[in-house]
Amino acid sequence: MNIAFIGLGAMGGGMARSLIRKGHRLAVFDVAASARGAFASLDCRVASSPADAAAHVDLVITMLPTSAHTRDALFGEQGACDTLQHGAVVMEMSTGSPSQMLAIAKDLAARGIRMVDAPVNRTPPEAETGTLLAVVGGASEDVEAVTPALNALADTIHHVGPLGSGIRMKLANNYMSMINLLLTAEGLMLAERAGIDRRTAADIMGAEGNGASNGQLTTIYQRKVLAGDLTPDFRLGMCLKDITLALELGSELGLPLGLGAAARSVFGLARAWGREDQDCTAILPMLHEIANSKNVVF
Ligand code: NAD
Repeated sequence: MNIAFIGLGAMGGGMARSLIRKGHRLAVFDVAASARGAFASLDCRVASSPADAAAHVDLVITMLPTSAHTRDALFGEQGACDTLQHGAVVMEMSTGSPSQMLAIAKDLAARGIRMVDAPVNRTPPEAETGTLLAVVGGASEDVEAVTPALNALADTIHHVGPLGSGIRMKLANNYMSMINLLLTAEGLMLAERAGIDRRTAADIMGAEGNGASNGQLTTIYQRKVLAGDLTPDFRLGMCLKDITLALELGSELGLPLGLGAAARSVFGLARAWGREDQDCTAILPMLHEIANSKNVVF
């Protein structure tokens, strides 16, 4: 397919490379010159704006931090909609707000452009190898139109329902994932501060069938903080965004989401502790730092 790919960050970079490797013709764009530069030697066209990227393509893929960035890339100055042809599809793969995404879809429809939401689970290594898990919302014919691209990005694809159901599913998933992230850090801190070796605690808590075990502990913590690596696969700053989006959805639905509200208050501290651009598992050293803090305010 002829694809414009906008947002070449931790996830989008690997996703775009995966599409190129599988034979799709890509025009890529990111506001960061360094992200664009990484594509200069690849078999694709590095565009100078979203409008430049979207000229003559069937599909625009957006992989940006929030829905506001997606709106900007589509409708802002030199946005993709300046050149995107009637009948093309925008596939929004960022984790954003369902209501803002539906408002974008309405504005696209007014220009004869279709939309599919397909946020993804898993991490940058799976983005690189095209083995993500995609949860897709959209009309059947629109999902069919983007399936060749989806197949290059994900090895597990769920068409959940109409437009908006992909992102709603993803927010419910991330609600649990973000709470597990914090829960894992608290559990490990408790064990360590009680004198138990961190690795022993992780092995016991992560044992198969143990009620304490979860994917954050058994996979993500192992790969990152427990291996001494805090380079960001998923930035700690993004956790606040994801838990907030999930809580907003819960609030619209009138749901009691107490654990999420408690987790949100801790994620909100990441900026003050200078850790929002580190990997999400930096929540563990951050909790230790907070526990060590001797500041007393009267
Ligand atoms: P990131 O911050 O690494 O990358 C975002 C990229 O978008 C950056 O390169 C930035 O320069 C670019 N950008 C920002 N505004 C732009 C604009 N207007 N036009 C063009 N480019 C713009 O973020 P990420 O980790 O790749 O995450 C992207 C999305 O995917 C987020 O919504 C995130 O929640 C979601 N997600 C991330 C992971 C993960 O493990 N990192 C996993 C699943 C989903």
